[in-house]
Amino acid sequence: MKSKNTLLYFMLGGIFLGVFCGWTFGKEMEVVAWIGDMFLDVLKMLVIPLIVSSMIVGISGLGDIRKVGKTGGITLAYFCGTTALAVMIGMIMVNLIQPGVGVELTSEVPERVTGKDDTGITDILRSFVSPNLISSMANMDILPIIVFALLFGGTLTTLGEPGKPVIAFFEGVNLAIMKMVHLVMLISPIGVFALISSKLGAAGGGELFLAELMKVGKYAFTVISALLIHSVVILSGLLFILGKRNPWDFFKNTSEALTTAFSTASSSATLPVTMGCAVEKNKVCPKAVQFVLPIGATVNMDGTAMYESVAAIFIAQMMGIDLSLMDQAIIFLTATLAAIGAAGIPEAGLVTMVMVLQSVGLPLEGIGMLLSIDWFLDRCRTTVNVWGDSVGTAVVAALEEKYVEGGNSR
Ligand code: ASP
Repeated sequence: MKSKNTLLYFMLGGIFLGVFCGWTFGKEMEVVAWIGDMFLDVLKMLVIPLIVSSMIVGISGLGDIRKVGKTGGITLAYFCGTTALAVMIGMIMVNLIQPGVGVELTSEVPERVTGKDDTGITDILRSFVSPNLISSMANMDILPIIVFALLFGGTLTTLGEPGKPVIAFFEGVNLAIMKMVHLVMLISPIGVFALISSKLGAAGGGELFLAELMKVGKYAFTVISALLIHSVVILSGLLFILGKRNPWDFFKNTSEALTTAFSTASSSATLPVTMGCAVEKNKVCPKAVQFVLPIGATVNMDGTAMYESVAAIFIAQMMGIDLSLMDQAIIFLTATLAAIGAAGIPEAGLVTMVMVLQSVGLPLEGIGMLLSIDWFLDRCRTTVNVWGDSVGTAVVAALEEKYVEGGNSR
């Protein structure tokens, strides 16, 4: 236990040192970018085998189909409920603070989102399946892999004896990957240092970053304070009331995952660490973790959903466009969908935002205004995404224990 805390202190040290070096030495810190990328790649390397094995083990551990249905229902209710609350908080804050009023729109449509303007709701639905699982794995398209693993694991449980060795095989794979996560985490302090210092350096160092932040300071303040309210009040409240956990202890035990999320800006790459913290440090029932976290890292993004709604309304305010109640309701819905559709990778939310803006006829040029600071806000929202998933496992495990006959606790 003590050595695990030591690792966390080293990770926090890595972040502070990273901020200091990136701030002070600016672009020179780009020389360490490859170390950060390597750390990210090592984490990503574990993601696909981890998702496949844990989903199969998780679903087969739930046993009969009624239990799966109930647990699935609770998980879905948690995901939808918390995402909706996040979007609502974001919308209230942006309407109260009005960060876009008086800001001049001076940008062009960024290259990254051009050609994405025909992405619609049907594309999100289609992304749940893929004709070629191998290519999905190669492209880290996680949704179809989850759907396949769910169906495969579910089917294995109906086979009886012939299914057992296959399940045992994936149990072994799962245990081995989780052990590998420990090894990888040993280099995490260096990884987070390299990621943070090179990114801040690439943004031009402390002074330039501060200047960019000031340009959209009110907007960044709105996003960060809404993220904080959601994390501290709503998510920690749910954790306390429904999950029956002490939020502070749970937060401390999740810190390694949260620092990894902040450094990598990717909930998918963070998934191995999130699962490790949930099972080993927070002692959440492994079956719930194996079922909830892989899905959560891909579809449950409270921070991203909130960010999309705040950003859309900010752009409307900059343009002097008055959004009707109907428009705001459309933003509410599309922001939720856009977050589900966003992959757990850096700045994915910026691209799916096209859908939100188009649904109410807002100009894509607005995204250009958010670009310079997005790398930073992305880290903040990814941290909240991972916190939301972690709280979700504890809440689902507790509710399952209470309402699903027999529960699944060890
Ligand atoms: N980077 C976020 C994540 O991985 C997604 C986003 O909002 O861009 O959770």
